[in-house]
Amino acid sequence: THFGFRDVPLGDKQTLVNDVFHSVARRYDLMNDLMSAGLHRVWKDIMITALNPPRGDAPFALLDIAGGTGDIAFRAAKAAGFGFRATVCDINIDMLEVGHNRALAQHLDHQVSFVEGNAEALTFPDRSFDAYTIAFGIRNVPRIDAALREAYRVLRPGSRFLCLEFSTVDVPGLDWLYDQFSFRVIPPLGRAVTGDAESYQYLVESIRKFPRPNVFAEMIRAAGFSRVKWESLSGGIVALHSGWRL
Ligand code: SAM
Repeated sequence: THFGFRDVPLGDKQTLVNDVFHSVARRYDLMNDLMSAGLHRVWKDIMITALNPPRGDAPFALLDIAGGTGDIAFRAAKAAGFGFRATVCDINIDMLEVGHNRALAQHLDHQVSFVEGNAEALTFPDRSFDAYTIAFGIRNVPRIDAALREAYRVLRPGSRFLCLEFSTVDVPGLDWLYDQFSFRVIPPLGRAVTGDAESYQYLVESIRKFPRPNVFAEMIRAAGFSRVKWESLSGGIVALHSGWRL
């Protein structure tokens, strides 16, 4: 079957997204490495450097939304000190299960916990975290403005919002190459590895639909964040947005 992701109502979009990640969960980490030729690791490291979690014993609580199989939380935990705790929150239990098993294998389960939840309506109290990260997640959330408002609500004043997401390639030549890669390589590669080309067709389409970085920065400001900045990585394939709750 072919579903046009572009035209689905918001409620149905979440159902489609859930099917996508249910279908790819077990192969998700492998696919990331294959599709980005390992580059996602570099982008994630750049996010962790920007997060700069404290090295000491002072308590620091990170909320990693759409945290999936735990990559951001694990990387942050390895860069941080003993006071560091991360809560990985994701709407998809299959992704969280893979993440929890990885935490056990890496002996990080005392620092990183996994919670099911929706970015648009978090169950955490107001002002309960020292940082909020979302990596390659916001694009999948149907109501981005609701997710940004929730991010602001759960952050303590003086803490940081960081978002890593696919963006708009703006380098002549690279844009053509990126299109070829997106439409000709990714879906067949997705089919070969996960048996599911449609999920990776979704991936490509959702990247194209996501707002341009300046527009997304404006949405972050509209949610209440201050000193909003963004930096374009790898010719615009990815952007890192950041802001402060003051
Ligand atoms: N952050 C991880 C990483 O960088 O590897 C995983 C990113 S994965 C591409 C996107 C994740 O967003 C999936 O695990 C999916 O279940 C999750 N997701 C989609 N919609 C969500 C929502 N409304 N609330 C929370 N998580 C959501």
